Amino acid sequence: MSWDRIERLLGKEVLTYLGERTVGIIGLGSGGGFVAVSLAMSGVGKFVLIDSDVLEAHNIVRHVAGNDDIGRPKVDAVADLIRQRNPAAQVKTVVGRIEDHDDLLAEVDIVVAGVDGERSKYIIDQACIEHNRPAVYAGVYERGEGGDVCVIYPDEGPCYACWAEHLREGLADVSLNGDELDYGMIGPDGTLEAEPGLWLHVVRVAAAQADMTLNELLVDTDAYRSMPANTVVLANTYLEIYEGQTVLPYTAEWINVPRNPECLVCSHLHRTDGADEQPVSLDELASLGNVTLEQDDEN
Ligand SMILES: [Zn+2]
Repeated sequence: MSWDRIERLLGKEVLTYLGERTVGIIGLGSGGGFVAVSLAMSGVGKFVLIDSDVLEAHNIVRHVAGNDDIGRPKVDAVADLIRQRNPAAQVKTVVGRIEDHDDLLAEVDIVVAGVDGERSKYIIDQACIEHNRPAVYAGVYERGEGGDVCVIYPDEGPCYACWAEHLREGLADVSLNGDELDYGMIGPDGTLEAEPGLWLHVVRVAAAQADMTLNELLVDTDAYRSMPANTVVLANTYLEIYEGQTVLPYTAEWINVPRNPECLVCSHLHRTDGADEQPVSLDELASLGNVTLEQDDEN
């Protein structure tokens, strides 16, 4: 196979650089699987794939893997697809959950959160803080009407807990251009509704997640493109992103979500008073009632 065309686009140096980068993808469902294959097709050379699920018949209409892979772990099915696109790729697969394998984050340059459930995203957030790794999260809205993607550097801006509190639960406090974000897309417990969208609507959000991941991998190179904010909201149809303000299909809005200085998960990273305060655990956080922890909806 030939990488000539990609090399002409990115340059030999960048392509070589990407070939040596490692992406950790946690959750290999519709979104995560698509991101994995897309990054392999863009020159990324090393992958750590983590997912505890086996591919089931009902997954197939919304997955990069097909009928032949039913019954196999999703990580193995996606690893094969990566190698079909890039035989030189190094792929480590783990059938399991991130909480049991978070030491693997030490091996990766960036994390892609391919999970649906908010609880899993909080676990990834904590692991990324511990290992000081950037992560790119995506969420698809009810019926695939849109979605959002955010890039989180825990030692710089908001951690995912800051971000989610701001955008998922504290929506009334979010103001951009004087407009309030609309609650409509969020479930009563402050998490995204699990009602799935069509594959093509999921992968539009996942394509942005893959592209933003690729860009962040290049952060130390001249090929890096500076983004307008840390979060993009994508509309797949007419979408009321802000209260009373409907945006057109296929448009996007950028939002900069700030760090919460009082965040129970990450504020210890930013203390300047020398206090040695320990971060709270996920269970402690849940017991405080600040977050709603949902079980993952597997898809
Ligand atoms: Zn935080």
